[in-house]
Amino acid sequence: MRILITGAAGFLGSHLCDRLLKEGHSVIGMDNFITGSPDNLAHLAGHPNFLFIRHDVANFIFVPGKVDAVMHFASPASPNPNSPYGYTNLPIQTMKAGALGTHNSLGVARAQNARFLLASTSEIYGDPLEHPQKETYWGHVDPIGVRSMYDEAKRFAEALTMTYHRTHGINSHIVRIFNTYGTRMRLDDGRVVPNFIQQALRGEPLTVYGDGAQTRSFCFVDDLVEGIYRLLLSDEHMPVNIGNPAETSILQFAETINRLTGNQAGIVIKPDLRLGDDPQRRQPDITRARQILNWQPNIPLDEGIARTIPYFRAKLGLS
Ligand code: NAD
Ligand code: UDP
Repeated sequence: MRILITGAAGFLGSHLCDRLLKEGHSVIGMDNFITGSPDNLAHLAGHPNFLFIRHDVANFIFVPGKVDAVMHFASPASPNPNSPYGYTNLPIQTMKAGALGTHNSLGVARAQNARFLLASTSEIYGDPLEHPQKETYWGHVDPIGVRSMYDEAKRFAEALTMTYHRTHGINSHIVRIFNTYGTRMRLDDGRVVPNFIQQALRGEPLTVYGDGAQTRSFCFVDDLVEGIYRLLLSDEHMPVNIGNPAETSILQFAETINRLTGNQAGIVIKPDLRLGDDPQRRQPDITRARQILNWQPNIPLDEGIARTIPYFRAKLGLS
């Protein structure tokens, strides 16, 4: 296939490019570098099956030649207001990427009679009242909350995707991605994995927001990419959760990072930095992915973090 990936210079987009090229597909990467980096694609320069187009997907998308699949990943993704790359500091851009960017990406898929895959998120469940979260759960989201530029843009993107599917028969797929980590996350995007790993590598205490009792379930990027690739090739049009059901409190997670890095500096509680609308519990129910895609994550947290640390070590200039 010839596949357009929006958000290709980001963390997930760049890993997807690698995987699809490895499978023998031809890839067109598109990005405006608002939160991503050309460094994430530098190794693909000159690759015979890779083309990069610098473009803001909020504007009409033109791609020369045939396209067989469109994967829409372009969007800021970090909730952290302390980072310039957090979506609360890029609020209009985030709404445009989710709304106009999804519309334009669907337009390409429709014009080209191509498959479409939307990168949605566990955030569409908001601060969930159902636990773990199944795809049938409608969510608990404040439409005007401090995270709403992201949550509601993604909910609109899902609605638009289903509308194009029902109206135009687009062969569409929706992946609801739960917290994923790995190499190529921005050091400074403020998400918990890059924050904790770099603090630990610098020998600083890890900044736990709130009491640290809030939970997340972390998936290694290779596992996620496998699930997404299977979904792209499937006949499933309803949303599918992809994530690792192994749930941990943020406090436990901090202790894990300190153990794996040998950091002696401990943790520091930062109640003032707790984000409004910070979901208290998050864990995917992956029954649907298991049944439909025969997929489940295989890489435990300790192993995934151990595979990620050298990347951050190199980025920080530590040998
Ligand atoms: P990222 O910030 O590393 O990547 C996003 C990429 O999109 C960046 O390269 C950015 O420059 C690009 N982009 C943003 N707006 C754009 C625009 N208007 N035009 C062109 N390019 C644009 O984030 P990520 O973690 O790789 O997330 C990728 C996608 O996956 C996002 O849609 C995000 O909502 C979704 N997601 C990620 C996670 C996760 O845990 N990483 C969880 C849920 C959902
Ligand atoms: N968090 C934290 N310290 C940090 C960064 C994040 O305690 O330095 C917490 C944050 O409040 C949230 C969890 O870690 O409860 C995951 O945050 P992240 O920004 O990675 O993304 P989210 O899962 O909230 O979308």
